[in-house]
Amino acid sequence: MASHGRAAFHSHSKRLAEWLLGPHMLAFVPAIALSAFWIAGELALVTVALGLPILYLLAGTLTDARAAQIREVDATTGLPLQNQLETDIDKLGLTCRDTGRKSALYLIQLEEFDALSQRYGQEAAATLLERLAERFRALVREEDTIYWLGGARFAVLVAPVPQFELETAIQLASRLQSAAEEPVSVNMQALFLSSAIGFCLSTRSPENTTDAWIKAADTALNEAARNAPSSIRAYSAEMGETSMKREALTREAFFALDNGEIAPWFQPQLSTDTGRVTGFEALARWHHPKRGTVAPAEFLPALQDSGQMERLGEVVLYGALTALKAWDRAGFYVPCVAVNFTAEELRNPKLAEKIRWDLDRFDLAPNRLTIEVLETIVAGSPEDAAARNLAALAKLGCRIDLDDFGTGHASITAIRQFAIERIKIDRSFISRVDKDQEQQRMVSAIQTMAERLGLETLAEGVETSGEHAMLGQLGCAHVQGFAIARPMPFDETLGWLTQHNSKLGALPQIRGGNAI
Ligand code: C2E
Ligand code: CA
Ligand code: CA
Repeated sequence: MASHGRAAFHSHSKRLAEWLLGPHMLAFVPAIALSAFWIAGELALVTVALGLPILYLLAGTLTDARAAQIREVDATTGLPLQNQLETDIDKLGLTCRDTGRKSALYLIQLEEFDALSQRYGQEAAATLLERLAERFRALVREEDTIYWLGGARFAVLVAPVPQFELETAIQLASRLQSAAEEPVSVNMQALFLSSAIGFCLSTRSPENTTDAWIKAADTALNEAARNAPSSIRAYSAEMGETSMKREALTREAFFALDNGEIAPWFQPQLSTDTGRVTGFEALARWHHPKRGTVAPAEFLPALQDSGQMERLGEVVLYGALTALKAWDRAGFYVPCVAVNFTAEELRNPKLAEKIRWDLDRFDLAPNRLTIEVLETIVAGSPEDAAARNLAALAKLGCRIDLDDFGTGHASITAIRQFAIERIKIDRSFISRVDKDQEQQRMVSAIQTMAERLGLETLAEGVETSGEHAMLGQLGCAHVQGFAIARPMPFDETLGWLTQHNSKLGALPQIRGGNAI
């Protein structure tokens, strides 16, 4: 690693010079002066006694000046760091302005770096960074600079050139990305990473300041990370506006929970056998004072960014249990309500206890609450906190649904270990199932697997009556989707239930039986 070797040499020679010229060396002045007297007499004694301290004083100032020029580099990657990037951009910005030359700032983020370093250890992570630093170095021109910004981030600053168009910039970005995504061999093991890259051309920076340019590249990187894995984004003025809107939303979302602006809506789930309602899924909605109803896709990331997911969970659970009580009071039989839980919430060691307490407080049997978890959670270790929570909740009597089934990587063993009772087949398998044989084969296969494992199934995102009918034929026990009803505020559920039940009453029952 040439740059690493160079960096190590600089740092050793710097340390040696500091030691030789350090103030402790003045302690040897009397000894040296005495030797000078023995060898060359009185004049030499005076010269050494006075001259040496003056010499050190001068040399000290010189090394200080040299030290200021030596770029501080990271020991692992041999790369300069964040503060150096800022200093370099200060200078480079001026050059671009004065000469009309162009440059670009790239930020590279390795996407699964934290997980990899947890799994393989700090040493493997350091080797990985070192290898990537070498690759990036080999890829750019001698005048361009690579920086390590800490954690999983690198930066590349392109030295000013007469022309640097968007197309060239994208080509460099994809070369950097390919370099980051080539497997890295560490301890005889091939490690694979994906990366997000955001960049901003010097000509596109919203202002002529170092901060504005770095922030613009950072906005592009965030946008790329949002579209993970392996995205590349160039900063544009519109991107800046979107990110400002998003920041405003994050600030507002923080208060929206306190103000009671976020509450669950409810979407019914039906038995394909009887047509009866077997439950409702609680789905969060934000009643924004100016923007009207905002869907979770827009505000969940904001709540996640501000660490509010646990509070959202409490609000939705409270709303869901309140709804169950109200349906009971109104004389509707709604067997259960499903609430979505994130990995974060499931890691709370007090979760099962808290839910038990909430159910007690509402005087509701545990089997009236369904916990919806994503496949990604179940793909984790059965020893972790989420698994323990799910086991405790299942033991308490709550039902566990596996959400978005087919999109993650849950193994059959994991499904068994995690006390799952029902799988929710993802909409991607459901759409056009009545018209597309391939879809039918997939649903049948899932259905067979579920039956063998003693699991129930629910088809999500059923949009047409054709899909509904086909799913019944394929043996899916439950359906949920726009074909039945869209999610609605609690108040509307009462009218909807009345109407649905009266429709059911009017229909002859094809196959009787228990609704659940
Ligand atoms: P999900 O849990 O998979 O929820 C189903 C989503 O599909 C809902 O979107 C629902 O409105 C939508 N949907 C239902 N039927 C149909 C259909 O026939 N066609 C189509 N195209 N879509 C249908 P929504 O409400 O926008 O929620 C999106 C996601 O946000 C949810 O996906 C869930 O992951 C998350 N989410 C919603 N509420 C909560 C919550 O209270 N807590 C947590 N942690 N996540 C929530
Ligand atoms: Ca769900
Ligand atoms: Ca789902």
